[in-house]
Amino acid sequence: MLGAPGSGKGTQAKLLVEKYKLPQISTGDMLREAVAEATPLGRQAKVSMDAGQLVSDEIVLAIIQERVTRPDARKGFILDGFPRNLQQAEALDQLLTSLGRPLNLSLLVAVDVDALIQRLVGRRTCLSCGQMYNVYYAPPHIEGRCDECGGRLRHRADDNEETIGNRLRVFETHTLPVVEYYKEHGTLRTLQGVGEISDIFKAVTKVVEDVKSNLKNETRTDAIRAAFAKHRASKAEKAAAEKKPAKKSARKAVKKAAAKKTVKKKPVPKKKVVAKKKVAAKKKVVAKKKVAAKKTLSKKPASKKKTAAKKAVKKTLARNKVAPKKKTAAKKTVKKAAARNKVAPKKKTAAKKKVAAKKTARKTARKKR
Ligand code: AMP
Repeated sequence: MLGAPGSGKGTQAKLLVEKYKLPQISTGDMLREAVAEATPLGRQAKVSMDAGQLVSDEIVLAIIQERVTRPDARKGFILDGFPRNLQQAEALDQLLTSLGRPLNLSLLVAVDVDALIQRLVGRRTCLSCGQMYNVYYAPPHIEGRCDECGGRLRHRADDNEETIGNRLRVFETHTLPVVEYYKEHGTLRTLQGVGEISDIFKAVTKVVEDVKSNLKNETRTDAIRAAFAKHRASKAEKAAAEKKPAKKSARKAVKKAAAKKTVKKKPVPKKKVVAKKKVAAKKKVVAKKKVAAKKTLSKKPASKKKTAAKKAVKKTLARNKVAPKKKTAAKKTVKKAAARNKVAPKKKTAAKKKVAAKKTARKTARKKR
C-alpha cells in the first residue's frame, strides 16, 4: 500500500487483512511499538519519527526481513508504509526474489494535500484495537473513547502541524519516486482515497480481485505451456527410440550411406562458399600478375632489341648523314655530267652540222669549178 501520510492506506490495509486473512506489515506500527517498548531500536528510531523524517534504511530493512519470514506471512502479506524510498524498493525486490515470492500489486491511494492535512491534524487512533477516528468528520460518540472497544484514543505525536509538513515533504521527495518505480515495473494501480471508507474499500477490492484473476490466468498459461513442452519432449524421445537401428552392421551401413550422401549432397556452407570465392579471386589476381610479369619480361628483351635497333639506326643515320653529303656531291657530279651531256650533244650536233655544211660548201665549190 502506497500513499502519503493520512491517505488512509493503513485503514484500507486493515480491511484487506479481514477480507483476505493476510497479515498487515506496517513499518510505522512496528516502529511505534519499538518506541513504546523503549527497545534500543525504538530509541534510535524515535528521534527521526518525532522529526517527521525517515528512519534509517538499515533499521527498517532489518525489521521487514524478520517479519516477512514469519510463518503467518507464508501465504502472502500486505505491506503498509514500506517501501518509502528507492533503496527500500530495490532491497524489497531482492528479498522477495530470494524468497521466490513476487510482488503482485503496488496500490497507491491518492489524496490531495489539503485533505491530507485535515485528516492528519484531526486523526485519533484507539490504543487497544487500532480503530481510527477524525475529530472533524468522523468523531467518536464519547470524546477520547473508542466506539468499538471503549479503549483510549490517542493523538499521534507526529500528527502535529510542523511534523506533518515534514512528512508530506518526505513523501514527495522520497516516496513518489517509488510510485514511478512500480509504474515502470507494471505492478502499480492507483485509486482515489476520497469519500466513504467502505466505498474506497470496494474500489480496493475490485483492483485486488482483478490482479488475482490475472495471476490465475498467467498461472494457467504457464501450466499449459509446461504441458505442451512435456508433450513435445516425450514425442521427440519416442521418435528417437524408433529411429535406432537394431544391428551394429546396419548402423554402420546407415552411417556410410549418410557419409556418402553428405559428400555428394552436402551443401557447401556459406562460409566455405565465401572462402572459395576469396581463393578464386586471389587466384585471378595472381594469374593476372603473372601475365603482367611475363609481358614485362618479354618486353624487356624487345626493348634491348629496340636499343640495338636504335643504335643501328643511329649508325645508319650517322652513315646517312655522311652519305647524303657524298650523294649530294655525286649527284652534283652527275648533274654536271648531265649538264655537260646535255650541252655536248647539242654542241656535237652543231659541230656536225658545221662540218656537214663545210663539206656541202666544198662540194658545191668543187662542182662550180
Ligand atoms: P507511518 O505510520 O507509516 O506514517 O510512519 C510513521 C513514521 O515512521 C514515519 O514518519 C517515519 O519516521 C517512520 N517510518 C515508517 N515507515 C518507514 C519506512 N519504511 N522507512 C523509514 N521510516 C519509516
